[in-house]
Amino acid sequence: MSKYSCESFEKLEEKVKTYISDFEDLKLIETSYKYAYDKHFGSKRLTGEDYITHPLSVAYILTGINADASTLVGALLHDTIEYGNADPEEIKKIFGEDILSLVLGITKINRLNFSGDSESVINNQRKILVGLSEDVRVIIIKLADRLHNMKTLFVLNEKKQKETAKETLDILTPIAHRLGMNSIKTELEELSLRYLKPDEYYDIVERLNATKAERDASVAKMIESVSDLLNKHDIKHEIKGRSKSIYSIYKKLDKGKRFSDIYDLLALRVFVNTEPECYQALGIIHSKFKPKPNRFKDYIAMPKTNMYQSLHTTVFGVDGQLYEIQIRTYEMDKVAENGIASHWSYKEHGSNKAAIQSDMEQKLQFFKSIMELKQNEDNPEEFVKSVKEELLKNTIYVFTPKGDVIELPNGATPIDFAYKVHTKVGDQTTGALVNSAMVPLDHELKDNDVVKIITSSSSTGPKREWLKFVKTNQAKTKIKNFFSKASLDENIKKGEELLTKELKRQKITFNEFEENLDKTLTNLKLGSLNEIYSNLGSGKINLENVIDAAFKPEKDKEEKMMEKVQKLGTKEADKDHIISVAGFDDIKVNLASCCNPIPGDRIIGYITKGSGISVHRMICPNVAKLNERLIDVTWNENKEKFLTTIVVYASVGNDVLVPIISKAASNDIGIRNVVNNKNADGQAVELGVIVKNKEELFKFINNIKNITGVKEVERLIK
Ligand code: MN
Repeated sequence: MSKYSCESFEKLEEKVKTYISDFEDLKLIETSYKYAYDKHFGSKRLTGEDYITHPLSVAYILTGINADASTLVGALLHDTIEYGNADPEEIKKIFGEDILSLVLGITKINRLNFSGDSESVINNQRKILVGLSEDVRVIIIKLADRLHNMKTLFVLNEKKQKETAKETLDILTPIAHRLGMNSIKTELEELSLRYLKPDEYYDIVERLNATKAERDASVAKMIESVSDLLNKHDIKHEIKGRSKSIYSIYKKLDKGKRFSDIYDLLALRVFVNTEPECYQALGIIHSKFKPKPNRFKDYIAMPKTNMYQSLHTTVFGVDGQLYEIQIRTYEMDKVAENGIASHWSYKEHGSNKAAIQSDMEQKLQFFKSIMELKQNEDNPEEFVKSVKEELLKNTIYVFTPKGDVIELPNGATPIDFAYKVHTKVGDQTTGALVNSAMVPLDHELKDNDVVKIITSSSSTGPKREWLKFVKTNQAKTKIKNFFSKASLDENIKKGEELLTKELKRQKITFNEFEENLDKTLTNLKLGSLNEIYSNLGSGKINLENVIDAAFKPEKDKEEKMMEKVQKLGTKEADKDHIISVAGFDDIKVNLASCCNPIPGDRIIGYITKGSGISVHRMICPNVAKLNERLIDVTWNENKEKFLTTIVVYASVGNDVLVPIISKAASNDIGIRNVVNNKNADGQAVELGVIVKNKEELFKFINNIKNITGVKEVERLIK
């Protein structure tokens, strides 16, 4: 047997005979091996091994959970149809209908292409789940098949490795967990982690190795001590030191725990013969070693949903170190490691698909739930989603633009993602793109999303509102850390001091300031004096902002806003590619300044002498004079912005300019060349506006029409 494969049938047979003795069964297993050998003869695996080593290894893995004969036969034959060109009719003739349906079930799942788009991923997962609810042996073989493929995953390229690992963690290990197949689950998880996050994986391995000798010594001492104790009370037992799985350590570290805090690193398992002895052993251990409060769990009286049974306790053991102790019978251990497979001993009911399946449904709530969800299935997406959310685990996998996988809990947002990437990224997040589309920061991420975080180094840091929607504790903690760096109280105190000093310096009394408080709060968009202080204290606003907000006349606000809207849309459109001219590929085009056409306007071109085509609005009176040299032009799709001119007629005495500018600012519309003509009858404000198209312009015009005092708005043609 090589490191990762079973190379001979003799090896497999030897293992099978340790728990299967029925002559017919052994004969069938051998026949299926010979059949598979024949079908795969001449084929090689990517590892260079003969193909037959793969089905042999899959069957060998399954002997580890004492799988019955028909499951082993299924394992040996599992690739014969797809990769060995076996004829299903022939399989049926030799091995019977039950085995054929098993092999067909695996073939169906094998054909799934997991690297496809999200729709096909969903469909694949649906097939796995349906397969599971139809014949659990299909999934058990699939798990072993995947385990052997993961063991030889090094032959594939990195992209394929990561995809396989992700898919394994996504659906197969949760199923293994639900089926209680701990040994296979643990191996799959570790291999997946190794390929998905090699840095984290090897970091844990190294840290474990660094402390291994020390831990082994402590555990050995504790084992001796507990063993003496149980011997004194005549309880027959065995005790084994137990190493925590790397994946479970990874999960705890990922939740923010420190390596040194994972105290169940020191762990042992006590095996006894009977259930009463479990409780006796527990009592005896507790009488000598004080238990840590709230760490005792009785999974014997209350088994887990996957049938797992054990007593769990954590005690202060030798040298005052914490030890996690599990106490169970040998029978419970079999269930804990092999799960569902340990329950369908073929002797009980024969290798009959229906019998096994109904046994399964009786014993595992999981199956009933899948059946129920399947019955209520509206569409495959919903079904897979509910199974994963309600029955499997609450985890999604999303990608960075570079393709790195980030694991997040269900319902996580771009902010969770950002903090997972790096604290600094989280702190400076200003926006997020999911699958290239801009989303709000509380957007719920979905499995397989590609997330790009937009950061700004000028960002003032995280927002308190984020705490209301982030899902991960990691993000919550980091946001809170940011704020607690300067606690609210301190900021208020500091802000008050700063303002008092500044008022004194400018010879303004506090009363004078307080008289303008309402105005100040409105201008600063704050709710109370304390908020002014705390924002001052934390540096979110400065003294100049506060004094300006309190004492500067309104006009300055208008000026500031004007500055802002004048900066909007400053980029000049490159006119040549935004207009198509009938019959010309490459010709200079300009938009006429008399009528300033924008996309959406009906337009016409005019051939000028020497400076290309001048484009006018169809209704431009200047065009009528030029009809001989007119030519058809059309708008191309583009993302440019365009300048056009509007006139706003308003009654005298209403200041309409400030609200217009503020509406422009909030709609991201640039403003140029403002001319305000006033006379006794009213005022006409002429403004150049920079917009994307006619639709945006008309929305803006409608907005303006709602402003008090505005009578009419029209586009200007000079
Ligand atoms: Mn296979």
